[in-house]
Amino acid sequence: MSRKVRIQKSAGGVICREANGQLEVALISPKPEVWALPKGIVEKGEKADRTARREVAEETGLEGEIIDKLGYIEYWYRDPQEKILYHKFVDFFLLGHTGGNLHRHDAEVLSARWYPIQEAIQKASYDTERQMLEKAREAWRKHRTQP
Ligand code: ATP
Repeated sequence: MSRKVRIQKSAGGVICREANGQLEVALISPKPEVWALPKGIVEKGEKADRTARREVAEETGLEGEIIDKLGYIEYWYRDPQEKILYHKFVDFFLLGHTGGNLHRHDAEVLSARWYPIQEAIQKASYDTERQMLEKAREAWRKHRTQP
C-alpha cells in the first residue's frame, strides 16, 4: 500500500439567520444519510474567507457576509482510487445571511436546508462539525448582543 500523504486545505461556513426568534443555520447533504456544513477546496491564491463565501453560495444557493472566523477542524481520509492518504484542514467562518435561494444549490449536493441550531447539532454527521456548530451558536450570541 502507498504511503503517500498529502495536505488538503478547504474552507467552509456556518451561515446564520434568525427565524421566529431563533437561530437557524444551513446544512447540506453531500451524500445519502450525511448532513454537513458547506465547504470546499481553497483555490490557489484564494483567501480562505473568500472560499467560504463562494462554497456556501455554490453548495446552498445562499449569500452571506463574513462575521468572524470560528476556527478549524482536521481529519484524515484515504482516497481509495488514488491510494493517497489526505490530512485535511478546514477553516470555518461565521456568516450572516444576506440573500439567495436554497433552490439554487449545486446539483452535486443532494439537499440544502435551514435547521434550527439545536436540530442542526443533532443532525450533523461529523463530531468536529458538531463542535463547530456549538462554537457558531456562541459566536452568534456574542455578535447579536454587541452594542
Ligand atoms: P471538499 O468539500 O473540501 O471539496 P470533498 O467533498 O472532496 O471535500 P470531504 O468532504 O473531505 O471531500 O470527504 C472526504 C472523506 O472524508 C469522506 O469519506 C467523508 O465522509 C470524510 N469526511 C468529511 N468530513 C469529515 C469530518 N469532518 N470528519 C471526518 N471525516 C470527514
